[in-house]
Amino acid sequence: MEKADIVIIGAGVVGLAVGAELVKAGKDVIIIERNNGFGRETSSRNSEVIHAGLYYPSESLKAKLCVEGNRKLYQLCNENNIPYKKSGKIIVAESNEEEEKIKQVLKQGTENGARGLRLISKSELQSLEPNIIGEMGLLSEETGIVDTHKLMSFYEHFITEKNSIISYNSTLTGVTKSQSGYILNISEPDGVSFELETSILINCAGLDCDKVASMIGLDIEKLGYTLSPCKGEYFRVSGRHRGKVSHLIYPVPTKISLGLHLVVELDGGLKLGPNAFYVDELNYNVDEGHVEQFFESGIRYLNFLKREDLSPDQSGIRPKLQKPGEVFRDFIIKDERDNGYQGLVNLIGIESPGLTAAPAIADYVFKLLFN
Ligand SMILES: Cc1cc2nc3c(=O)[nH]c(=O)nc-3n(C[C@H](O)[C@H](O)[C@H](O)COP(=O)(O)OP(=O)(O)OC[C@H]3O[C@@H](n4cnc5c(N)ncnc54)[C@H](O)[C@@H]3O)c2cc1C
Repeated sequence: MEKADIVIIGAGVVGLAVGAELVKAGKDVIIIERNNGFGRETSSRNSEVIHAGLYYPSESLKAKLCVEGNRKLYQLCNENNIPYKKSGKIIVAESNEEEEKIKQVLKQGTENGARGLRLISKSELQSLEPNIIGEMGLLSEETGIVDTHKLMSFYEHFITEKNSIISYNSTLTGVTKSQSGYILNISEPDGVSFELETSILINCAGLDCDKVASMIGLDIEKLGYTLSPCKGEYFRVSGRHRGKVSHLIYPVPTKISLGLHLVVELDGGLKLGPNAFYVDELNYNVDEGHVEQFFESGIRYLNFLKREDLSPDQSGIRPKLQKPGEVFRDFIIKDERDNGYQGLVNLIGIESPGLTAAPAIADYVFKLLFN
């Protein structure tokens, strides 16, 4: 049987960031990924926004790791020529009631340690973004956008050039506890399977993190690890509007998402999204019938938008812990030794801001294991 010191399940941005952090410290790592390349699931199906850490309750992991991840991610991009743009973001208020909500976001963001926040008046909003409708706004200067593919490609290269391994087309199908750790059963597409023993196992399996935790033997219902997948679709805005907006534009947040916002991509392309609805089945189709919802949301703040400007784009699925009607749930990043699983770290419910937070999550996991 093959042996490893550390195995990570999942080569999304989080598994890769954790892998890179460990490799940087001189550890040997094997990453097991069922797809034929990195980031084929949630990590390539998102808004690519580097968040500043505005919305999450103080002291939550989401707040702390987002604020820290924001700083670390810009530094990583600067040091390694990973394309990004600190475009800034404006949350736009349409009414007095929304002004109050925006002030609460400012208060929360400030408490969280987010930098570069200030309220802007209607006239400043108009001078910054002449094509945006709103009564006032909250400007976040530290919000930006990153080329997620290049970020993950950087991590992949960093990990493999140091002789650690990313094993693609390899699906974890079973786990047994052994004397010195865990015996993993791994299947390949040709039907061949093999066993791999590891003393440290890190579960970064995204939408299947709960299934992997259950496979290891944890009672996921009792521990509150069961996911409620929540889909988010995007609609593209016609290329004829390219260049009309430069900041990322957000409405005030809802209970389950940041609201249907305008993403200004690195190349200036515009897309609206994501919406948010819970799903039982995981597929990435975009329902063309949802165009009306996107148009109604978009015309509230985009003065140029016509219905015919919108066409279905991509979708992603949030690995949410928060069930329909529930209140806020934080990331779970847990060393499971208290539950009788020495050397196991579970990362559960790493939805937004997981991309932003990835470098800080990696540091956090490293400290859980080695401090
Ligand atoms: C619509 C949407 C918009 C978002 N926008 C943003 C944003 O703008 N900014 C931000 O910071 N965050 C955003 N996020 C969140 C961010 O995308 C995620 O937090 C992040 O991508 C999670 O990365 P991950 O590596 O944990 O998961 P994933 O990318 O899902 O990776 C998990 C990997 O595990 C693999 N895997 C699972 N089970 C097994 C198994 N049994 N064997 C082998 N491999 C397995 C999967 O194949 C997958 O590749 C958004 C999310 C969504 C859905």
